[in-house]
Amino acid sequence: MVWLTRLFGSTWLLHAGLIGLAIIWLLLDAPFPEGFAETLAAHNRGLALTVGLLAAVLALLYQSANTALQAGVLVAFYLWILGSAEPEAALATAAILLPINLLILSLLEERGLLGPPGLVRLGVLLLQGLVIAAIEGQRPQLLEALSGQSFLPKTLSAWTAIPDQGLVMLILATLILAALCLVERLPMLFGALSALLCSTFALHVMANEPHAAAGTALLLLALIGLLIATLQEVHRLAFRDALTGLPNRRALDALLQRLGNRYAIAMMDVDHFKKFNDTYGHEVGDQVLRRVAQTIGQVRAGGRPFRYGGEEFSVIFPGRDAKSVLEVLDELRQEIADTPFRVRDPDRPEDHEKGVNRRKEPSDKGKAVQITISIGVAEPSSVQDDPNDVIQAADQALYRAKKAGRNRVAE
Ligand code: GH3
Ligand code: MG
Ligand code: MG
Repeated sequence: MVWLTRLFGSTWLLHAGLIGLAIIWLLLDAPFPEGFAETLAAHNRGLALTVGLLAAVLALLYQSANTALQAGVLVAFYLWILGSAEPEAALATAAILLPINLLILSLLEERGLLGPPGLVRLGVLLLQGLVIAAIEGQRPQLLEALSGQSFLPKTLSAWTAIPDQGLVMLILATLILAALCLVERLPMLFGALSALLCSTFALHVMANEPHAAAGTALLLLALIGLLIATLQEVHRLAFRDALTGLPNRRALDALLQRLGNRYAIAMMDVDHFKKFNDTYGHEVGDQVLRRVAQTIGQVRAGGRPFRYGGEEFSVIFPGRDAKSVLEVLDELRQEIADTPFRVRDPDRPEDHEKGVNRRKEPSDKGKAVQITISIGVAEPSSVQDDPNDVIQAADQALYRAKKAGRNRVAE
């Protein structure tokens, strides 16, 4: 089960596997088990609709309307190419519009489906469908013109029969999404990237043979990419703390169950945090927690950081004893104490722009407040070999650190 948690915990591993699988499978000329290709071909529309619906419903359930719309867009273009009287023209158009739609839906902020922003997005997509249908009905030559053009150097486009404009859009959108993934590392971006790559491969297959079973299989992989992204979002909701982004108590419990005999546990608590909250307000308190969590998140010596709850954090050091992590913990404590937190003027302007201008004034430095934490650390012994007992021992050490004057590490 550990490997399963790791697999879903990583934002990119499953997608890398999915894309790798699609590439290898294509290079091997899409081998299918006996009879499978026929089943895929016979039920291509039903399969696309079922898996698309599953991906969309699951995404909607976890507030990812943009992902649900992406699934809808994938299925709609696929069904259109299959059903079109001019599949070549339909494919040429889809190759241009599909990457644009997937990319825009990845860039837009998540706002749900049933509020005004979601309904506008849905409306624009439906309008797009109507316009395409109208052009196809009235002026099919406009779409057909797209498929005949070729302007890219052969080295770039010779591998595929996807028309050049579409190929350019697919490659551009892939590059932009890949860059976004590197910067933001969000499950939804990785999902969109693997959906885009797999649907590019699907278009590549369909450009030669629109009804090929391999095209259906690749479209299903694209939808699975979106499904995986939603499942990863669910995993993140379950195991990450929303305020600080650190793994939460549930993730800590899971790690405690699989610790060996040698480990150290550090419990940390922000000093006089209640007073800080009472003075500056809960929102500023939250900012402090985020700042402290960011520093704790960078702990060295193989420490695994968690938000234990409230203003308390813990770090588990698998394979280490308490003595050997004291120095690292003291550095952490020192770094937090040495970085003053600037509290902005409470009567700062409501208007964001005015506030930005005001902060540029030399007189507005904000008030610098020192934040400190106390740390208690413990390891298993003959009297306390259960991880929960070790946590209690670390808690008692933390209590001693508080008693001794706070802003210190106690063993
Ligand atoms: P000590 O130095 O002994 O630890 O004193 P303290 O004031 O930090 O300890 P205490 O446990 O009395 O106060 C903890 C406070 O942390 C109380 C609660 O209002 C605040 N707190 C807990 N969770 C959150 C949170 O998520 N956000 C904010 N802003 N405050 C929180
Ligand atoms: Mg506390
Ligand atoms: Mg405290």
